[in-house]
Amino acid sequence: MSSSKTTFPTSTWSSGSSPAGSITCNELAGCFGRGVPAGANQQRKDMRLFIAIQLNDEMKEALAGLQQRMRDQGVQGNFTRWENLHLTLAFIGEYPDPEEVKDVLETVRFEPFPISLDGMGSFGNLWWAGLDGSDALRSLAKGLRRALAEAGIPFDRKKFSPHITLVRKAYCRGRAIPEEVLREPPRGGMVVDHFSLMRSDRGKHGMIYTEL
Ligand code: NAP
Repeated sequence: MSSSKTTFPTSTWSSGSSPAGSITCNELAGCFGRGVPAGANQQRKDMRLFIAIQLNDEMKEALAGLQQRMRDQGVQGNFTRWENLHLTLAFIGEYPDPEEVKDVLETVRFEPFPISLDGMGSFGNLWWAGLDGSDALRSLAKGLRRALAEAGIPFDRKKFSPHITLVRKAYCRGRAIPEEVLREPPRGGMVVDHFSLMRSDRGKHGMIYTEL
């Protein structure tokens, strides 16, 4: 993975390059807004894009420890690998022009702010770690979503629910997060001083996220 970092006085975001996907642009146009003209796919290959905060090692260690406690309690499923642990701010989906997205992201300014792990929860069989409901985090997500919207770049407009996915298709004896796991919530934090445009591809052994 190649990445370069652009630093601004108050905020930074990370950038690098390239392709693949499955939701079509026309589906996105229907769901999320403007979309890409029919036929654009034939000229430039779409990429599955999202915008995320990369986590530091302290947070990843806490989350990996939590995943291990889950396994110890008999939880099975598709555990997010260490290198894939992240916090998504906005999901764009299939889009052919990451450079255009990068240009928009460059306009988003914010002051660095702290986040910390805060509890756990689930969306069905997807289990996640939560974050403190920091206003700064919500404000960053809001600001960058506004910038995408103003630029006509489609994204999923569902309400922002800050979470870090730990395991998908989770199952265990009771079908709920075991009490033993909940008793020891993960602890850790970091200062957010940049965010990244990410590309998601299906790899042989799971999803591959690449910082663009
Ligand atoms: P992903 O779907 O590319 O998602 C990357 C990130 O964006 C994750 O943080 C995900 O949140 C978030 N996200 C995805 N769709 C979203 C939406 N509609 N609204 C808001 N946030 C969204 O990669 P993944 O999450 O690792 O893969 C999940 C499933 O997608 C897998 O079962 C995979 O097979 C399937 N899938 C992947 C591709 C691909 O080419 N990458 C294509 C089609 C289907 P969560 O962590 O909460 O999911």
